[in-house]
Amino acid sequence: MVQEMIRVTTFDGPAADPVMREVARPDVPANAALIQIGACGVCGTDLHILKGHWPKPLPWPFTLGHELAGVIVEKGTSLTADFMGKPLEVGSKVMLPPLMPCGSCDYCVHYPENANKCLTPVYYGRYLGFDKAPHLWGGWAEHVYVDLDMLPGTKIYKLPDDMPLLLGSLSEPLTSCIRSVNRAIEAGRFRWGDTVVVQGTGPIGILAIAAAQEMGAGRVIAVGAPEEPRLRLARAFGAEATVDIEEHVTSEARIARVRDIVGGYGADLVLDCSGHPSAGPEGIEFLRDGGTFVEMGQFTDAGAIETNWHRICAKDLNVLGSWAFTANDLPLGVDMLYRARDRYPWREMQTLFPFTVEGVKDAVGQAMAMKTVKSTIVPFEELL
Ligand SMILES: [Zn+2]
Repeated sequence: MVQEMIRVTTFDGPAADPVMREVARPDVPANAALIQIGACGVCGTDLHILKGHWPKPLPWPFTLGHELAGVIVEKGTSLTADFMGKPLEVGSKVMLPPLMPCGSCDYCVHYPENANKCLTPVYYGRYLGFDKAPHLWGGWAEHVYVDLDMLPGTKIYKLPDDMPLLLGSLSEPLTSCIRSVNRAIEAGRFRWGDTVVVQGTGPIGILAIAAAQEMGAGRVIAVGAPEEPRLRLARAFGAEATVDIEEHVTSEARIARVRDIVGGYGADLVLDCSGHPSAGPEGIEFLRDGGTFVEMGQFTDAGAIETNWHRICAKDLNVLGSWAFTANDLPLGVDMLYRARDRYPWREMQTLFPFTVEGVKDAVGQAMAMKTVKSTIVPFEELL
């Protein structure tokens, strides 16, 4: 018997209790599908939304839940394949990601590697409204409905037929962790056997431990709390050691403990999955000089500019340090000066001072006072 009404949980706003509501089972046109939910995780983002941290207006009341895995129970005739071209049928197991790039906005077209920053994504912001059911999101419901004609950016991904839906519901958060390691790889800064420190032992931290190992990490150390269940699970996932932040309560103590475990010059890669703004500066100290830090733990846009470390994550940035140069870089400087000797007023940078006590004193003094751009001491003027 076909279920006429579909039960969904909605929230009226931050801090509200969930309400069980019923929406009419939608008709399913040609390019649409109705998906019965088998499992849907609770994400840190959901918790942020329910704590009122989402920086933009949300169309309350709505249904949360975006880590969903389900089964197609009804679909239109035109919907024959998933985003990757895999055939879809009634009975196919599928997942839907929460942020689906439109594929056609300026960002998607010109910066495809940052299509996660799509200007018009299919997301909560495109939610159709509870009063206009059938609605798209979310997964804390008996079913979700997707219509690819209404929202062409919608993407369905087929799960293997024999994949349990519980396992499939982890595919969205795990993908975030895979991308964080890939960010280091695409920067050329992650190599087989590298030592990785994962900050944070929530679901993203735990999944990052698995992703790092699958992608070549030699050693993984996790920093988080509490011991039960999180640190124990981190070790069960393959972290060789865990550092309990409830036991090591200061940054100094945690840095010392991590560096003691890692040994050598420090970690090659730190993945911040913690969601705490102070974790970034602390995590940098886990690294060896020349190491790599990937910030993935903070989603919110709130906070003052000067303390807005999480903007590195929210903007999907590459923030690179550059300390002086290596021996192989120096000929570049010589060559560039020689090649471009007539193209810039190099000589105008330089204010010359004689090689006397007074001359050196003036050279330094005027530089400190910002009266010169490049004070330059000339012991033998005839050499110039
Ligand atoms: Zn787009």
